[in-house]
Amino acid sequence: MLLLKTVKEVRAWVKDMRTQGNEIGFVPTMGFLHEGHLSLARTARKENSAVIMSIFVNPLQFGPKEDYSTYPRDLKRDCALAESAGVDVIFNPEVEEIYPEYPQLTTVDVKGITTVLCGASRPGHFTGVTTVVSILFNIVQPDRAYFGQKDYQQVQVIKTMVTDLNIPVVIRTVPIMREPDGLAMSSRNTFLLTTERNEALCLNEALKLCRAMFLKGEKRSTELIKAMKEHIEREPSASIDYIEICDSRSLQGVLTVKERVVVAMAVRIGKTRLIDNMILGGEGNVPDNDEI
Ligand code: AMP
Repeated sequence: MLLLKTVKEVRAWVKDMRTQGNEIGFVPTMGFLHEGHLSLARTARKENSAVIMSIFVNPLQFGPKEDYSTYPRDLKRDCALAESAGVDVIFNPEVEEIYPEYPQLTTVDVKGITTVLCGASRPGHFTGVTTVVSILFNIVQPDRAYFGQKDYQQVQVIKTMVTDLNIPVVIRTVPIMREPDGLAMSSRNTFLLTTERNEALCLNEALKLCRAMFLKGEKRSTELIKAMKEHIEREPSASIDYIEICDSRSLQGVLTVKERVVVAMAVRIGKTRLIDNMILGGEGNVPDNDEI
């Protein structure tokens, strides 16, 4: 596996791969890899003859009071894990390589769906995401790019950007990978203290509770959200940022669950902000990857 640091090196590799007739799968990450990232890489490996992963903690998507400087990093460990998942190249640029002028004058903005859910409590976050993903797409020019359902809103925002700007890449979505006890895997889980790690299970438990109520016939969002809030508020370290039930595409809140919806939440456990979600309603309740 190659570790590349510069745009020039990546462009040369891409050119080489294209000349040999390869299809390129791209997995953008911020590193500190876990099984969630690796499942994206493995899916990319199955569907492409060349796989590149970026590891870049993107300053543009962090707010001034957020955890950019403390975000966990371990490149050596990441390289070993990525290689085991079949990644051919890791692109690990310095900030100056991606943003020669920081903060730069050009950004990419998706409107509407970026101001709800995480966008409401993290102003500017999605601008940071769409800007860096556009830059990375322009460098890598992949056939397919892989994102996790864990960041459901992010997937919808990227899909909107790719459609609206006619970027020639297929966006593939990979289901949420969880720890055996149900906690959604996240690089930020490493921040949780031992007692908090246990309390963090309340996110997934609340989603399961919501699904059980829905399957018993409760379709009113207010009742479903109320039950999830009550469940989470039992944990002393938990403070809810949002719990919402939204249309799966527009991300607008719905009053009753008729069509496919996403149940999405962000909850602080101590100082660590965690997110989780599930798809509810629609046919069979189990979304195909591409439909997410
Ligand atoms: P991050 O490094 O947190 O920016 O995540 C990089 C990619 O991995 C994003 O597309 C995430 O949605 C995805 N990802 C993160 N956690 C998980 C998970 N538990 N299951 C599946 N994908 C994930």
